[in-house]
Amino acid sequence: MSTSLHTERAIDPATRAAPQVAAPVVPSETPSEMSSEMSSEIIELRNLDYDAMQALALRLGQPRFRGEQLFRWVHGRGATDLSQMTDVSKLLRAALANRVHIAELGIELAQVSADGTRKLRLTTADNRVIETVLIPDDDARTLAAEESARSASEDVESEDGEDEDGPRRKLTQCVSSQVGCAIDCDFCATAKLGFSRHLSVAEIVSQVYLADRLLASLPADDPTRRAGGERVTNIVFMGMGEPLHNIDNVLPALRILLHPLGRALSRRRITVSTSGLVPAIDRLAQEGLPVNLAVSLNATTDAVRDRIMPINRKYPLASLLSALRRFPLEKRQRITVEYVLLRDVNDSLEDARRFPELLSGIPSKINLIPWNPHPQAPYQRPESARVAAFQKELMRLGYTVFVRKTRGDDIDAACGQLAADRDPRAAQARKLARLPVLPTIPESAAGLSGGNGLPL
Ligand code: SF4
Repeated sequence: MSTSLHTERAIDPATRAAPQVAAPVVPSETPSEMSSEMSSEIIELRNLDYDAMQALALRLGQPRFRGEQLFRWVHGRGATDLSQMTDVSKLLRAALANRVHIAELGIELAQVSADGTRKLRLTTADNRVIETVLIPDDDARTLAAEESARSASEDVESEDGEDEDGPRRKLTQCVSSQVGCAIDCDFCATAKLGFSRHLSVAEIVSQVYLADRLLASLPADDPTRRAGGERVTNIVFMGMGEPLHNIDNVLPALRILLHPLGRALSRRRITVSTSGLVPAIDRLAQEGLPVNLAVSLNATTDAVRDRIMPINRKYPLASLLSALRRFPLEKRQRITVEYVLLRDVNDSLEDARRFPELLSGIPSKINLIPWNPHPQAPYQRPESARVAAFQKELMRLGYTVFVRKTRGDDIDAACGQLAADRDPRAAQARKLARLPVLPTIPESAAGLSGGNGLPL
């Protein structure tokens, strides 16, 4: 394990804009209701998807295209201040000045792993703490015997940059969807935090805008930028929280991130991961947002899954796998089956041999994740030989199988380690006490202007 780590300075959340808990997405309403609401409600612009932004323009008596202008600024360019919106009429900006807010997250701590992985501990307006992780280059998978599995090779091409877009560098951001998590998977550090609240749409997309701004501000020789580039290229909803538990806010966030006038990410570059909330999987399917779906399987029997993932008691394997079978996929699209390997719990060859029956009828690829240790869970990581044997058996059975290489575990940024822990004793326990200090993150990158009001 590397010890070449850095910590960037904390930025006092008090220097951020005044706390303003984000409002929900603006619903369509009658004109009279709108005007009375407009007189008192402060609207969080980053909560608004394309349709909602147009609805806002109409509520202000403006033509629809003004809403499109606002959307471009807020979500396409990540504007943090109305004054940046130079092609928006002064009249509209004046009308908005006391009525809207643009959310920002504070950066409380940033840590850089030797491999360029960067973990940001972020604070919300109400001083909750979440984490997001920037993972440069490919997302930490290694493919054994690549040449022996043509389909696996094609998959690497489609996801890691050798696709129809041509070669490109990759920087994956792992975003959080909740403060804590209610699902209580037994092996997960986030679970130990319990559940505090859902993140708003604004708080979800703001993680991406903040990361973009931070990356663009880094020097060319910065390890994250050198390894991954200067913009987020891929997003995985695998940070703190169960995204489909917060589906009311995750769906508009996806629409914003996918919208060609918003963050304009390809659907192939966004993955939503779930522990197996069956009704929400069906709802995501009905929404027609063809993002990638990943499912944390983690066990091949209900007995084991009940034990390590209590959600299985409500939606057992048969129910979950049925939902996956009816999930609509585009041509060549496959569901990613995540499988955290826990020594002597779910890592036997018998487990591997149950996959064909379980995954029958589900176009899928498999990510094996040797468990990343943390002190809050009584598990052990399987030895490398056992991981390799598990992978080999699955490949023999015809699957495309990746073993996720551990990234950022020296800063507790690896899968299942996000705990947003401010307790220095816990940090010590997780061997974080060895971090030298990095130069300050430029405030322009942190986007922490403003301080008293609306807009920033
Ligand atoms: S693994 Fe995911 S769903 Fe399970 S407790 Fe952790 S954050 Fe929640």
